[in-house]
Formats: sequence, C-alpha cells, structure tokens
Amino acid sequence: MTIIPKIPSHIQQKTDLLGLTLPQLQQWLAERGEPAFRAKQIYNWLYQHLITDFSAMTNLPQGLRTRLAEEASIGPMIVRSELHSKDDRTRKILLELADGKLIESVLMLYPPLGESSARATVCVSTQAGCAFGCTFCATGQMGFDRHLSAGEIVAQVLYFARELRAAPWIAAGLPGSKPIDHITNIVLMGMGEPLHNYDNVLQALRILNSPEGFNLGARHMTVSTVGLVSAIRRLSTELLQVNLAISLHAPTDELRGKTMPINRKYPLKELLAACQDYIATTGRQVTFEYVLLSGVNDAPEHAHQLGELLAPLKQFAHVNCIPVNATSADYRPPTPDAIRTFRDILFEHGVSNSVRAERGDDIAAACGQLRTRFEKKVLSKNR
Ligand code: SAH
Ligand code: SF4
Repeated sequence: MTIIPKIPSHIQQKTDLLGLTLPQLQQWLAERGEPAFRAKQIYNWLYQHLITDFSAMTNLPQGLRTRLAEEASIGPMIVRSELHSKDDRTRKILLELADGKLIESVLMLYPPLGESSARATVCVSTQAGCAFGCTFCATGQMGFDRHLSAGEIVAQVLYFARELRAAPWIAAGLPGSKPIDHITNIVLMGMGEPLHNYDNVLQALRILNSPEGFNLGARHMTVSTVGLVSAIRRLSTELLQVNLAISLHAPTDELRGKTMPINRKYPLKELLAACQDYIATTGRQVTFEYVLLSGVNDAPEHAHQLGELLAPLKQFAHVNCIPVNATSADYRPPTPDAIRTFRDILFEHGVSNSVRAERGDDIAAACGQLRTRFEKKVLSKNR
C-alpha cells in the first residue's frame, strides 16, 4: 500500500507569507514589533530571489529569521509528480496541498516566433475540483473540493519560476535563441473556476502584480471563466488590466445547456450583455474559448450561429478554437478540415479567431487528467 506522508499539522497553523500583499506583510510584522522596511526585504527574497527557506534571508537579524521559521511558511506543498512532454515544451506538476488535496499546474514554453519573444506561461489552478460540471472537462467530473487560498495560487507560479531560474529553457532546434529564465504569462485555466473563488484569485493576482514583488504586468495575466455574469460585472470595476476569456463552447442556449450546466443559470443573452458592458467599461478585448467537440458543436451551422452571436462585438471579440483534449468522456476533436471550415465561416462573419495548438497530449494535458490518472493508480494499488 502506498502511504502518502502528510504535512505535519503544526505547519498548517503557520501564516503563509505567499498569501500576503506587501501592506499585509508590513502589518503582520508590525504586530511582532518589526519595522516596515523588513517587509520589503522579505518580499525581495520571496519574489526576486525566489528563496524557499528563511535561513537564506541573510540581511534579516538571526532572531527574526528564527521567528519567521516558527510562525510563517512559504507556500507549503509537496510535488507528487512532475511530467515533461517529449519535446519539453509542456511540463505538468501534481501538487499535494497541506490538507492532502491534489491540484495540477502546467508550464507551457513557446519559442520565439517572428517579432515576438519566447514565452513561459503558467497555467494555474484556482480550486481543488470544480463545482460547474462541464461534461467535456476532467476537473468538472470530479466535483468540488474547496477554494485555493491566494498563497496556494501564488505558490504554483513560484514553483515554475524557480525551476526556470535554476535551468533556463532553450528551444530545441533553435540554436542561438535566447534562453528563457522567467515566467512571462499566467493563465487561470487550470483546475477550478477562478471567479467562483473571486477574492482569493484577485488577491493572488495583485500579489503577483506587485512591483515590489513578482512584478508581472496584469496584461500578462488571463482569467478564464465559465461565465459567471455577476462576477464578470464585478471584475470590470477592478483597476487591474487582466485579460478576460469566456468559455463559450456553444452558440445556442439549447446546445450550451447540454454541455455546460451553468447556462441554465446564466443564459447566453445575459452572458453576452455582461461581456458587452465589460468591453464598454474597460475598452478591452474579450477572448471567447470554443472547445471543438466533433459531431456536437463543430458543424458549419454552429460556426454561422457563433459568427452572428459575436459579430456585434466587432473587433473586441476574438475566438480561440480549441480541439478537445480527449478525457474519459466520449468526445473527439474534429478533423483539421472541419476546423479549417469552422474558422473560415467565422472569418466570413468578421470574427477574428485562432486555433490553439494541441500540446502535451503525452502527459495528460487537459487539466484534471493527471490527478484522475494518479488517483486511479493509487487507489488500484491500495485495493
Ligand atoms: N473554469 C474556467 C477555467 C478553467 S478551464 C473555465 O471553464 O473557463 C480552462 C479552459 O479549458 C476552459 O475554456 C475549459 O472549457 C477548457 N477545457 C476543459 N476541458 C477541456 C478539454 N477536455 N479539452 C480542451 N479544453 C478543455
Ligand atoms: Fe469547471 Fe472550467 Fe472545467 Fe467547466 S471547464 S468544469 S468551469 S474547470
């Protein structure tokens, strides 16, 4: 039987520093009689030096380092498994949280292309499991465990940031291209629904955006949502220039309701109105994700309906066509010809679109698949 060691319970009572904004850390230190400038020093160690151990914070007095080790932690989690795709452009980790819950995070590496430089994008989980039950999604089929804390969200990004710092990535077959040693983008497209965990997600994005800390521009962050209308409206009022992606996946209420139960609560008319208002308030483009499911939502008729639905948003809408990653559910991606036809029809309607290159199939890339596989393996061993 496989025994999974648990994180000792005393660690769980510590304050996770990765969940604190700089002012919050200042406050936490002030309560312990420490001056505010110590917070900046600690932030610098956490987010610039990417350290994982208080003893490495050499400009802090020894007494403070000892106290931090007793009362605080730096994103405690255990990496249960790390898989690299054959081309090493996709890396996936399975993380065990302090309470034993399992989540996944993915690093996607993109070589430089034309004018654009190389990218290192982390796909982050925001919940353990998900409450929304989309039929094509491995996470949706697990059900909901719990929200992640802001620190647990930040820790996923830092894990890959440390990995790239220690071993910068150079695109194979591109001699002379500059190694990439830092995270350039974050997408909240891992397990869970970010806007269902609104406060912790926004807190995490603010921490990662902080110029004194990780300093990643909000325009390099993307929030993907199943379409929680009231939360989209709230997001439009935040002074944070993050990108918004809407999981649309069907052009009619009838079809969307079959694969995405949330459509019964927020039908397309309400969702599109919220997107229109979001565009009007922020002046920003919205991406619509469309997972292509062969024989379900990929017919020319669907492309025409989608074109008509989005044409009123004009240049503010972009469709990202995503051939479905096969999960245990019985969905298949369309043929390349069917994808081409679908996209051409969208262009005819004046709707800009692209297709997401499939990646990491050999490492169970659709979020939730690795955890599902891992649990099956552990369970069968334990039987
Ligand atoms: N809950 C959020 C974000 C996480 S899912 C949302 O639904 O938007 C991130 C994206 O992956 C979503 O667009 C989701 O629909 C898509 N997705 C889920 N299962 C998939 C699969 N099997 N193949 C391809 N994309 C999938
Ligand atoms: Fe949840 Fe997003 Fe998966 Fe739907 S697609 S079940 S909202 S994680």
